[in-house]
Amino acid sequence: MCGVFGIVGVPKAAEITYYALVALQHRGQEAAGIAAADGERIRAHRGLGLVTDVLAKETLQQLAGDLAMGHVRYSTAGSNTVQNAQPIVVGTHRGQVALAHNGNLVNAPRLRIALEKAGSLFQSSSDTEVVLHLLARAGEMPFADAVVQAVRQVRGGFALVLLREDRLVALRDPHGLRPLALGQLGDAWCVASESCAFEAIGARFVRDLAPGELVEITRDGLTSRRWAEPQPRLCVFEHIYFARPDSDIDGWNVHAVRKRMGRLLAKYHPAPGDIVIGVPDSSISAASGYAEQSGIPYEMGLIKNKYIARTFIQPSQEMREAGVRMKLNAVRSVVSGRRVILVDDSIVRGTTIRRIVEMLREAGATEVHVRISSPPYRHPCHYGIDTAEKQLLAAHRSVVQMCTDIGADSLAFLSVAEMMEAFGFDETSAYPFCNACFSGDYPTEVEAFDKFDLERPAREGVTA
Ligand code: AMP
Ligand code: SF4
Repeated sequence: MCGVFGIVGVPKAAEITYYALVALQHRGQEAAGIAAADGERIRAHRGLGLVTDVLAKETLQQLAGDLAMGHVRYSTAGSNTVQNAQPIVVGTHRGQVALAHNGNLVNAPRLRIALEKAGSLFQSSSDTEVVLHLLARAGEMPFADAVVQAVRQVRGGFALVLLREDRLVALRDPHGLRPLALGQLGDAWCVASESCAFEAIGARFVRDLAPGELVEITRDGLTSRRWAEPQPRLCVFEHIYFARPDSDIDGWNVHAVRKRMGRLLAKYHPAPGDIVIGVPDSSISAASGYAEQSGIPYEMGLIKNKYIARTFIQPSQEMREAGVRMKLNAVRSVVSGRRVILVDDSIVRGTTIRRIVEMLREAGATEVHVRISSPPYRHPCHYGIDTAEKQLLAAHRSVVQMCTDIGADSLAFLSVAEMMEAFGFDETSAYPFCNACFSGDYPTEVEAFDKFDLERPAREGVTA
């Protein structure tokens, strides 16, 4: 989780970046930042909070230049402190470099220990800083070559944007685990985690970066190269939950995919109901597909308070529970006396759905049948979607047990094959998707020690 954006060759590039980041705000609400360059200097500002809180108008005016990049952060690796906010800006023997990262580097702890032993001093506990140290160590060579040399050493899911005084480099990991799209605003090239950022600034979506592709953008234009052999394992969870429905990712529109998932859910997992309700906002597309396929009317049975950020973002379980209550309300006149088919995109801890089932019953629903438009989420993601293993409900409970846990009359999920059908694949296809959180089939090696090692003050017993 996290969102990145970068643009080269427009006046007031920082201001444009600001609007793009607002459109990417759903990808992280904990911190935000922008770095801008005018050909000679990089200036940056970052802080904890929403884009609109962190970046005031006066601040944007100080970020002068026609090159800029920005980041919105959800802390996947490293704690939520301002040192871990991005872009990270450092001075190196090559000049200034700003870096923003979406994803998670699975071998960052090992690399960090090796770098520290070799004399590197780290300022943050974020895995992103590892890339900067690797970059600083690359020999005398053009900037983009040094970036390639550095990233060849890291493993995991990553979309990276790097800014120099006069150029911007952006790249996608060999599996394409994290999305990155290319756009054009007039003649100016831009990159963004999701195409919805281009819509927000009036830019044209050109294409997705390919897995293993790097682009270098200067005022003179764009060059592209393949820095690693592509081995596509795109993150299916971007389509299920994370991305905005108006984004197109790797050739699929997110809303259209969700709707097909809902249709397949109705086809393979019918339920006896009078109305279909989706959990706003992320499940509305799937619920509308379910309603269309089943012929059961879609109703607005849940209303969302638009001014509450995503519940998951709250750090403690207690705060999350309170968050669900503040965020959603059941509409009594719609659900009372009705059998409800409740469609949601996923169950992670089970907090949200349990509370919603309870709410619907309190509002008079006679039955609540829960249908989930993805498979049971059983395995932690190591590539940037933050979910700790012990908190995953499906990791320890069968579907029947989960049904009891959440208080539903029935519960069903899509299988991995059914989910892939929504993208047009059948069981004979080699899926170009990662679905490790459902299947446990990880596209990279997962190191024995994980991101939490980065935060341990003493790392005795862990050797590089
Ligand atoms: P939970 O209450 O923990 O079961 O959260 C599940 C709900 O949070 C789902 O309905 C999704 O809409 C949303 N969600 C799923 N995965 C994530 C994630 N990795 N981060 C934040 N929210 C998520
Ligand atoms: Fe996406 Fe799941 Fe793979 Fe993580 S494990 S990259 S959430 S599909």
